[in-house]
Amino acid sequence: MNSKDYTKEISKKSLKNPVVIIGAGVGGLSTATLLVNDGFPVSIYEKSEHVGGRTASMKFRNHILDNGFHIMPFYKKSAIYEILKDVKIENRLKLAIVDKIAFYDNGFHTYPKGIGDILKMSLIPFKSRISLLKILLPMAFTSMEKAEELDSVPLTQVTSKLDFHSKQFFDAVCMLAFADSPEHISLGEFARTIIRANPFKGGTSEFAYPDMGGYDRISEVMANYVEEQDSKVNLGHSIKKVIVQNKKVTGIELSDGKTVETDCVIISYPAYHAINQLFEPGVFDDDFIKKTNRLNKTTSVVEVHFALSKALDDRQVVFPVGDNYVSKGIFFISNITPSVSPEGEHLIIVGTPVKPEETEDPQRIKDIVSKMKQELSEIYPDFDEALLWDRPMAWKLVEAVVKEPGLVWKHKMPHSVPHVDGLFFVGDSTVSYGIGTDSAAHSAVLAHPLIKKHLSSF
Ligand SMILES: Cc1cc2nc3c(=O)[nH]c(=O)nc-3n(C[C@H](O)[C@H](O)[C@H](O)COP(=O)(O)OP(=O)(O)OC[C@H]3O[C@@H](n4cnc5c(N)ncnc54)[C@H](O)[C@@H]3O)c2cc1C
Repeated sequence: MNSKDYTKEISKKSLKNPVVIIGAGVGGLSTATLLVNDGFPVSIYEKSEHVGGRTASMKFRNHILDNGFHIMPFYKKSAIYEILKDVKIENRLKLAIVDKIAFYDNGFHTYPKGIGDILKMSLIPFKSRISLLKILLPMAFTSMEKAEELDSVPLTQVTSKLDFHSKQFFDAVCMLAFADSPEHISLGEFARTIIRANPFKGGTSEFAYPDMGGYDRISEVMANYVEEQDSKVNLGHSIKKVIVQNKKVTGIELSDGKTVETDCVIISYPAYHAINQLFEPGVFDDDFIKKTNRLNKTTSVVEVHFALSKALDDRQVVFPVGDNYVSKGIFFISNITPSVSPEGEHLIIVGTPVKPEETEDPQRIKDIVSKMKQELSEIYPDFDEALLWDRPMAWKLVEAVVKEPGLVWKHKMPHSVPHVDGLFFVGDSTVSYGIGTDSAAHSAVLAHPLIKKHLSSF
């Protein structure tokens, strides 16, 4: 009997109640996938009517609209893919590669697929390419441990010395990788991304998207697997309270007043919200709450879906560079996979970062949409004629991944807390590195052994 089978034996014999997971986004479902694969029964409670969390998609006028533009960083090297591979269900997720990427600056310039391509990058003068390489090459070949030493250093410590063109390049890369600008990003976090993108270190800079359309297909694949293992995904169930007695988790209370007994609760939505919402006063001390609240640093965006009667480009992503453009990324979703749109129509989504308060300002959003339309018709003269409809959306919370110097990686919310036995935290606000959904899945990989150890003690 191998160790995995042994875990299955233990769980079946001695776990009185299923593990409760709050939230069916990528973080909660990744954790559930790993636990049911060990043989532990789980019961997921999700307040909305569908799985996916922030990656949920919807049908609109026969198109599949994502909840804002979503792509999977690091393709088959992502934490999501590693988990699917670990439980042998990676074939259930057909992935389309996203690698036809360009910059736009009075013409199109190919995006570098690897460090070597930087030398050929027409976006910036040759001298700037050399200075970029001088920074990026040592970074790409450093170790993850060395990168950790840079966690408190701001990225601007290196970018501030660069010329205008190289800075523009960094701005575009930061937008793609972090949906943020270099002044908010830790050099350590940036370095880890460069290392993971380095093929000579087993990494990749490719991105992926579910070929079937809708980024929430990833969550669907995981939720189906969880249910096949005799576990439950309870949709439309909001958790009001985590019950803690004598510093131990004993159950949860749902918003309809029902209670469920359990010895293990895993919270998968941003921890700085959860610790303020789900617990009686006194469960956590003030210092801990204050420390966790510091992690509440969100990035916000306005993104607009445009449906078109014809394809404007055969690329998949275009980054307009420079301060003049409101549109920071143009994503041609139908070019990534045609399955998102009905026959004869095409879907693009254009995004721009904004301040959190701007997401609640209808006039600001209107101005952004009109500027985007003007820019699109300048870049693509057929845009006006091809436009069928537009649908703007604004998100206050994009990632709960903290990127700020001093708050990244191991400085994020821990997966377990000394105050309460049987309580765990996963999701993109918790200890992990990576981008968005990759970070949510990575947190599950890191938390898994801790949770397993707790469950094996019963
Ligand atoms: C516009 C936009 C664009 C993005 N682009 C990308 C991208 O290109 N690539 C990328 O990798 N990431 C991207 N992200 C980030 C990515 O979506 C998140 O990092 C990731 O989905 C977080 O997953 P999670 O499981 O940690 O949290 P969530 O997805 O937030 O999941 C938490 C779940 O908990 C549920 N919940 C909350 N409270 C309760 C309760 N009391 N009871 C029951 N259920 C509850 C919520 O409904 C939710 O489903 C983007 C996000 C947005 C908004």
